Amino acid sequence: MLKKVRQTKIVFTIGPATASEEVLTKLIELGVDVCRFNMAHASHDWFFETVDRVRHVCDKADRVISLMMDVKGPEIRTRTVADPILLCEGDLVEFSHQPSDHVAHECERLEKYPDHRFFKFGVNYPGFVADLQVGSPVLVDSGMIRTEVVEKTKTSVLCQVNIPGTIGSRRHINLPGINVDLPALTEKDFRDVEAGVKAGVDLFALSFVRQASDLTKLRGILESHGSKARIIAKIEDQSGIKNLESIIDTADGIMVARGDLGIEVPFEQLPIFQRQAVQHSLRSNKPVIIATHMLESMITSPVPTRAEITDVSNAVRELADCVMLSGETTVGAYPEKCVDVLNRIIFSLQDDRSESLDVQMDLKTPKEKLMRSCVSLAENLAEGEGRTAIIVFTGTGDLASLLSSMRPRGCPVFAFTNNRDTFLRMLMFWGVEPFMIDFEEDPEQTIHAAFNLLKQKNWAEVGDQMVIVTNVVGVFDKIVDSMQVRPLE
Ligand code: PEP
Repeated sequence: MLKKVRQTKIVFTIGPATASEEVLTKLIELGVDVCRFNMAHASHDWFFETVDRVRHVCDKADRVISLMMDVKGPEIRTRTVADPILLCEGDLVEFSHQPSDHVAHECERLEKYPDHRFFKFGVNYPGFVADLQVGSPVLVDSGMIRTEVVEKTKTSVLCQVNIPGTIGSRRHINLPGINVDLPALTEKDFRDVEAGVKAGVDLFALSFVRQASDLTKLRGILESHGSKARIIAKIEDQSGIKNLESIIDTADGIMVARGDLGIEVPFEQLPIFQRQAVQHSLRSNKPVIIATHMLESMITSPVPTRAEITDVSNAVRELADCVMLSGETTVGAYPEKCVDVLNRIIFSLQDDRSESLDVQMDLKTPKEKLMRSCVSLAENLAEGEGRTAIIVFTGTGDLASLLSSMRPRGCPVFAFTNNRDTFLRMLMFWGVEPFMIDFEEDPEQTIHAAFNLLKQKNWAEVGDQMVIVTNVVGVFDKIVDSMQVRPLE
């Protein structure tokens, strides 16, 4: 009998709640696939120490997981406040660019608005005033505080508070619909990327990717450090959505970063963009992660809400490659329960494909068409007992990625490689279980090594049906692609 492969992969964000050896061991045993370091909140000392601990725990558990560094990219932030300031509905706030530290404060009331309290805040973005018009929304602290521009001068904007809240120091500002003119990577990002390369992380997630060239810049920096790490583009504003296709083409994968995206676009459009992002990624053969607020209530509660269960189910049914945990595993009280909940939801749904999306792939080469045939044959054989898997041998991971994008129903893809980077790359692919082996000169010997590994690690048993994509030596000693169906021996 085949062991069940969890088709949708799990990314967890590491933080104080999960960085201990004890909790990490449990999460790794529960099968997390990718560990994300959010550099918005991590010091380099903590990052290096924690990377070592993750690797140590993986070695002990005889598992390999992928390490992702999330760099924070261009962000507009308020400058400091001496003490948090409670802003009430109707208060007036003046924002102006302040190149260095500037302490926000309450001022004399404005003659024109004698009934309104008046505060002055500094922001770090030079283009802030130029980019805004009267009526533009200015959202502070993940959209918790909502203000609107009521007046504008050459050097400042005056905003009225519509939704109140308390502002602390260096709070994140969103300007929905504005194409912010900040560089794709900040000085801090450069230092973080250097640390990530030194630690050998295999994935970099870049925040607020607005156009494909943002990724090219990061790729250039990685190459200048001799790193072949892959890049995940975080889609979190309207420019990212507008340029989605070229961003997907240039990236190695994308993340639908719903935290910021849900502020930058009208929230009722979020499910539409999520679906579009998954469909485009599937068609382009690139992995896609659905992130943020998947099990938010479990930061403090041991059980998810019904709505969260449905949200996770939706991502699974849409056939996203990965679902991601953020606050749930950085500061949450129940990180292991969260992974358990994801496991339960994914396993209970993954064989039900009645509502799955029908993504038409544009298959051009004979090899791509051969893959499609493998998938339909395997799906056909899997009907009934379900004792069928696809085996692929791949140096780059491209064949595994193509097979994964076809989302084979009811049959796992066992992908064998002799390259560690490829192994790590494949960890994110939907429905793919990667393995490391040496490739022998004689393809038949490689197949036997793969069979032995599957039996040894209890992934499959003698008699399970394997649809194998491999090279064989044809006439005149030519290597040709082939598809074989044979039971595991
Ligand atoms: C998000 O905004 O959804 C996200 C994943 O980014 P971050 O956690 O860096 O805010």
